[in-house]
Amino acid sequence: MNVDKSSIKKIYEISEIIRHSKTFFIAGHVNPDGDSLGSGLALTSVLNRLGKRAYIYCTDEIPFFLRFLKGSDKIKKNVKSTDIFDCAIILESMDFSRMGNIIAHNQAKKIINIDHHLTYTNFGSINYIASYSASTAELVLNILEYMKVELTKSEATSLYTGILTDTGCFQQINTTSSSHIACAKLIRCGINVNEIYKKIYENDSINALKLKGLALCKIKTLFDNKFSYIVLTKDMFKKSNAGENDAEGIVNYSLKIRGVKVGCLFKEIDKKTTKISCRSVENFDLLEVVKMFGGGGHRNAAGCTIRAGLSASIKLIINVLREKI
Ligand code: 5GP
Ligand code: MN
Repeated sequence: MNVDKSSIKKIYEISEIIRHSKTFFIAGHVNPDGDSLGSGLALTSVLNRLGKRAYIYCTDEIPFFLRFLKGSDKIKKNVKSTDIFDCAIILESMDFSRMGNIIAHNQAKKIINIDHHLTYTNFGSINYIASYSASTAELVLNILEYMKVELTKSEATSLYTGILTDTGCFQQINTTSSSHIACAKLIRCGINVNEIYKKIYENDSINALKLKGLALCKIKTLFDNKFSYIVLTKDMFKKSNAGENDAEGIVNYSLKIRGVKVGCLFKEIDKKTTKISCRSVENFDLLEVVKMFGGGGHRNAAGCTIRAGLSASIKLIINVLREKI
């Protein structure tokens, strides 16, 4: 296990809390991604195998491309306000609202906060925060290894999904030797890397491709091709007959243009709300940008939601980037 001294202490403390707890609330962030969900599903499965009563929660729909993960059809949406858990394990969330406020702080006797984002707060009884880690799945694997848990194939598949998706198939700058070592261990559990890749990345509906086509036709660049942006309107979803989750991955096209340093995807949620996904090259810090709008994430992949329509939101971001790019 490749972890520093202070993390070892935290991992030990987490393992002690887990040992002494019987009931668990587990949740990642709203609009779940592969890391948030994969880490949560693996943990839930292991804890149940250890004889605990662990439940995983998520207020949002599980994206189609993650529904192959074992347990993804058993995710609960809400909790009675009178329910109290021995332990809540909150993943990838800088606060309870990022988790969807499914429970309140006083509904868990102990709170374990595990995150690798740069935007975090220490809301837990224990906060295992490692922003140098490419994924939360690697942190969860560290804990499970410390606890000497032997992973099943489906648990390993869930954790591998977290690492694969959060490193952009091992291509992004956050990919480390620890990510690869973790994957080597997971592959030894018998997972099928080709099958996992195909389920996640080669499993689009034809409507998803049509949506991508409509959006890419209108891609724009500004500031000497240093900034590119893609807009997804409600109308494009209607025209292509695409669903909410069919927008997955479109933002990554913005960085494919030669010379682009920052790329954004503006998705119309309604007339007064726009979701923005941002990607940047190594030396451009996106957090400075999204934090201005209450968002978060990582240096080179971040997001926020602006309470304004599409064109007003695009203008707001362009004005900020004009100064920084
Ligand atoms: P994406 O653009 O794929 O939605 O998100 C990129 C990264 O930014 C992910 O790590 C995601 O968790 C984070 N992120 C996206 N939107 C938000 C947001 O509104 N708030 C926070 N705190 N993080 C976000
Ligand atoms: Mn993550």
